Amino acid sequence: MSLDRLFTGVSPRVARILDAALDGRELSVDDATLLLEARGDAFQALLRTADVARREDVGDDVSFVICRNINFTNVCYVGCTFCGFARHKDEPEAYDHPMQVLLEKARDAVARGATELCIQGGIHPNKDHTHYREILVELKRVFPALHIHAFSPEEIDFGHRKSGMPLADYLCWLVDAGLGTMPGTAAEILDDEIRQEISPRKLRRDRWVEIVETAHSIGLRSTSTLMYGHIETPRHVAAHLGLLREIQKRTGGFTEFVPLGYIHEKNTLFNHRGARPGASTTEDLAVVAVARLFLRPWIKNVQVSWVKMGPKLGQVALTSGANDFGGTLMEESISRESGANHGENLPAEEMRRLIREIGRTPVERSTTYRVLRRFDDPEKDPPSLEPKRAVELSGPTRWRLQNERAQRPHA
Ligand code: SF4
Repeated sequence: MSLDRLFTGVSPRVARILDAALDGRELSVDDATLLLEARGDAFQALLRTADVARREDVGDDVSFVICRNINFTNVCYVGCTFCGFARHKDEPEAYDHPMQVLLEKARDAVARGATELCIQGGIHPNKDHTHYREILVELKRVFPALHIHAFSPEEIDFGHRKSGMPLADYLCWLVDAGLGTMPGTAAEILDDEIRQEISPRKLRRDRWVEIVETAHSIGLRSTSTLMYGHIETPRHVAAHLGLLREIQKRTGGFTEFVPLGYIHEKNTLFNHRGARPGASTTEDLAVVAVARLFLRPWIKNVQVSWVKMGPKLGQVALTSGANDFGGTLMEESISRESGANHGENLPAEEMRRLIREIGRTPVERSTTYRVLRRFDDPEKDPPSLEPKRAVELSGPTRWRLQNERAQRPHA
C-alpha cells in the first residue's frame, strides 16, 4: 500500500505528522496531542503507521518475560484515590508476608521457569529502608540467578528518607544487595496538578524524575509507565511522553514504555470523584500507537499490559505499534483489587499461542530485553511448566468418567 492510499481521508496536518514520524523525524507534544484525538480514517492511519514504524524499529518478534509478581504487603497509608489494593493494617484482609512466604513464592516461580521476580508493596508505616534490603539479600541468597525487578520510586522515596543516606548511595546499597532493575511505576501522570487530585500524598513529579535519573546514573535501569483513562486530557498524556523522552535522551536508562489503563471499578477516584470509567478501546490503541511514533528512536520497546487490556485487545495493540507482551506474572493483585478481571497468570504457552495467532514470532526475553529463547517452530516448543489442576468436567465426559469409576473394582 502506498503512503498516499494509507492517508486517504486523513487531514493534511495529521498526514504530515504521520509521514514525519515514518521518516524518523521527532514529533512535538502538540503533534502527539493531535494524534491522541484522532478518530475515523485518521485513527486507522495512526495504527497502521505505528505498526509500520514498529516493524522498522524492532522487527516482527514479540517478546515476553517469564516472571512472578510478589506484593509483599498491601498495608499502605499513602491513600491514592485510584488504588483498590491498599489496606489499613487493622483491616481483616491486610497482610505483611514474612520472608518464608516470599521464599515459597520465589521457589514456585523458579519451578515454573521464571527468570524475574517483580516485587512491589504498599508503604507500610512500621517499616523502614532496612526492610527493602532484607528482602533482596534473602531472595538473592537462595535464588542468586533470579533477576529482581523491585521497588517503585514511591518505595525508593520512602526508604531513602528513612535511611538518611544520599540518594545515589542508598540506591547503590540496594543494588549491592541484589536489586537488578526498578519498575518505573508511581508515575501515573507526571503533572503535579493531576497528582494533587489523584494521589495528593504521593511523591511529586520532580522527585520521581530525580529518583529515576539518579537510578539510571548508577546503572540501575528502569521501565517507564503512564496511567491514563481517568481525569487526564490528551495534552497531559502527550506532555508525559515528552518528559519520558527527555529523560531517556539524558540517561538512556529506560528499558521500555508501559502504558497502563486505569481500572476504575473499585476505587474512590471513579466512585466518588468523577473520573472516567477507564479508557475506551480507541484510547487504549491510540496511546500505544502514539507512544511508538513519539518515542522513536529513543525508547524502542512498547509493552502492552494484558492485565489491564485483556489478552485479546493486547493482540490488537501488538498490531498497532507495540512489540512486547509483558510478563507472565503468575500472581497479580494490584489491578485485580481495583476491578480488573483478565486473570492473574498468562503462562508462556498461552503467550506463544496469542503471539502466533497474529502472525508474529514469540521470543522469551530477559528483564533488560536480551533474547533468551526464540520459538520459531511450534513443534519444538518446550512442555508446559504450569502446575496441573484437576478441573471438574461437564457434559458427556463427566457422565462417562462417573460410569467408569463406578464400574472399577475396589482396591
Ligand atoms: S497506589 Fe501504591 S502508594 Fe498508592 S495507595 Fe496504592 S499501594 Fe499505596
